Amino acid sequence: MIQFEQVSKVYPGGQKALMDVNFHLRKGEMAFLTGHSGAGKSTLLKLITVIERASAGRVAINGHDIASVSAKHVPYLRRNIGMIFQNHHLLMEKTVFDNIALPLVIEGFSHSEIKKRVAGALDMVGLYGKERHQPIMLSGGEQQRVGIARAIVNKPPILLADEPTGNLDPKLSMDILRLFETFNDAGTSVLIATHDLGLIARMKYRTFTLKQGRMIGGEQ
Ligand code: ADP
Ligand code: ADP
Repeated sequence: MIQFEQVSKVYPGGQKALMDVNFHLRKGEMAFLTGHSGAGKSTLLKLITVIERASAGRVAINGHDIASVSAKHVPYLRRNIGMIFQNHHLLMEKTVFDNIALPLVIEGFSHSEIKKRVAGALDMVGLYGKERHQPIMLSGGEQQRVGIARAIVNKPPILLADEPTGNLDPKLSMDILRLFETFNDAGTSVLIATHDLGLIARMKYRTFTLKQGRMIGGEQ
């Protein structure tokens, strides 16, 4: 599903963020990506979403080399990927409905279709009936669920999460991971970047480990 072959990333200014990284997330797999702060986790995710481009090597999604994807086609590529952030990047002055509807509005869905899909997404994350709330009225765990609903509302085959439980206590963190499991059970490939080793230890998934830009465990 996502394949890195000998991938390196050097930022302008010379900072080496990734070096000769080999990595393969299989179709339908759920896995963790771990490593200390600065190890290159965010950079790896940014190469998948083409926020950054590799300096060397090959990044392929579904067998397609994304090095050759033109800027014009990047938005089409991103429709296949739901992205979840630690601070969820919600629009605080908008309603929960508007936040979740955003990707569908951008894609040009009809209003009735948007209503149906947003309701479905809210149902999946356990927030049915909260459409008219503003994120500010919700707890941290609920806000994270809104971010997750927005990421899955257009049913992407790939879900990427960057420290999704960073601000949550262990119980809420586990709830969020169980939620990822339900998407994974439905066939979504899921990659979760986290430095929460306690959380990883409680789950049975493959773990990729980055150390100073090199993959030191989990690759195959
Ligand atoms: P992590 O997500 O594991 O904390 P990052 O991928 O954010 O690691 O960072 C990896 C390395 O690349 C770090 O040394 C970081 O300072 C550097 N880095 C990240 N983004 C940039 C950037 N835009 N420009 C220059 N250096 C960067
Ligand atoms: P986080 O820990 O939440 O990933 P960071 O503080 O590491 O956030 O990075 C915030 C942003 O700054 C990211 O987009 C990252 O790529 C970028 N960044 C990180 N390190 C550097 C750096 N040395 N130079 C320029 N940008 C950087």
